Amino acid sequence: MTTNIDFVDLKTQYESISSEIDAAIREVITTASFIGGRFVKSFESNFSRYCGLKHCIGVGNGTDALFIALKAVGAGPGDEVITAANSFIATSEAITLSGARPVFVDCDEKTCNIDVGRIERAITDKTRAIIPVHLYGQMADMHGLMGIAKRHGLHVVEDAAQAHGAKYKGQAAGTFGAFACFSFFPGKNLGAYGDAGAIVTNDDALATKARMYANHGRLDKYDHVFEGVNSRLDGLQAAILDVKLKHLERWTKRRQEIASIYDEGLKDFAIIPSVLPGAEHVYHLYVIRVRNRQDVRNALKGKGISTGVHYPTPLPLLKAYAHLGYKPDDFPSAYALKDEILSLPIYADMTDEQAGRVVRELKNAVCRAEGSLGA
Ligand SMILES: *Cc1c(COP(=O)(O)O)cnc(C)c1O
Repeated sequence: MTTNIDFVDLKTQYESISSEIDAAIREVITTASFIGGRFVKSFESNFSRYCGLKHCIGVGNGTDALFIALKAVGAGPGDEVITAANSFIATSEAITLSGARPVFVDCDEKTCNIDVGRIERAITDKTRAIIPVHLYGQMADMHGLMGIAKRHGLHVVEDAAQAHGAKYKGQAAGTFGAFACFSFFPGKNLGAYGDAGAIVTNDDALATKARMYANHGRLDKYDHVFEGVNSRLDGLQAAILDVKLKHLERWTKRRQEIASIYDEGLKDFAIIPSVLPGAEHVYHLYVIRVRNRQDVRNALKGKGISTGVHYPTPLPLLKAYAHLGYKPDDFPSAYALKDEILSLPIYADMTDEQAGRVVRELKNAVCRAEGSLGA
């Protein structure tokens, strides 16, 4: 009997580290370290070391991380912030939450990341910042992007919610812009057991600002210097993340192995992910392009294999942004990709046998879908 292959499988991961996790949870509870305290400090220090940066500020989730980073660089009403058309809505929501207006730029058809060549056209005298999204686990072309940001005096906040440990020409997320923002949503490469996020930076003053903003505008108990928000990483999540961080490098390597099994098996049947020279892809998502996507998805589902689509509608074409008046023609690449992209299951606990089954069934599904069209 063959078992189903889920899109993500967090239960198998927990089983592999349950004794460490259970002990960590117990320690948080028995020491009542629920908000702040040593577990948060420990994770912040370990995660900043992992990123190769000086500061890490734990926050409530990845959306808050982006919003707080934008407030720390001074984005607000009257400003515009440029970001990628193909992302999760959290990226542009954070811009709106800050008071600024999102301005979308089309993606590069190969990597699905922001097309750096189209950024300059979107810059106006109101532009305050750029948020590149390191989509699917591959960093955007940060060398090109930083050149533009420097020339125009713009802040850069990296959305690294899908890119824990990703590198571009040897440099990690967060070492280019003012901040990198991470999500530890359970299904991310480093996932908590609930909501959690973090902001990392090398800049002392920005770190202090972000830390204060995330904690009611204070550093000391009742010394509120300005109004902020309540967005803190809690002790339980920090302790869980600290345990998981020790396994992250191994898990990332395994994701990369699964990706190479897929690359090898699928390259003649679909457009496989394109990795920029010098980029280290951490494969939060393994996204291929196929025609007849719905037929292929259904066929895989019939064989017990779950897939996803990231994302079915480019952000500027969502109902939520109808008021901005964008048209499909404004985003030819994102629009062309949206009906073809297909995300395959990928996680460290997948076996070679499971990856092989996905390859086999996908080949069958692609051939059948093309046959049914008389191709
Ligand atoms: C997950 C994600 C976020 C938001 O993170 P949350 O922790 O869910 O708030 C932001 N940007 C991208 C690209 C994401 O994938």
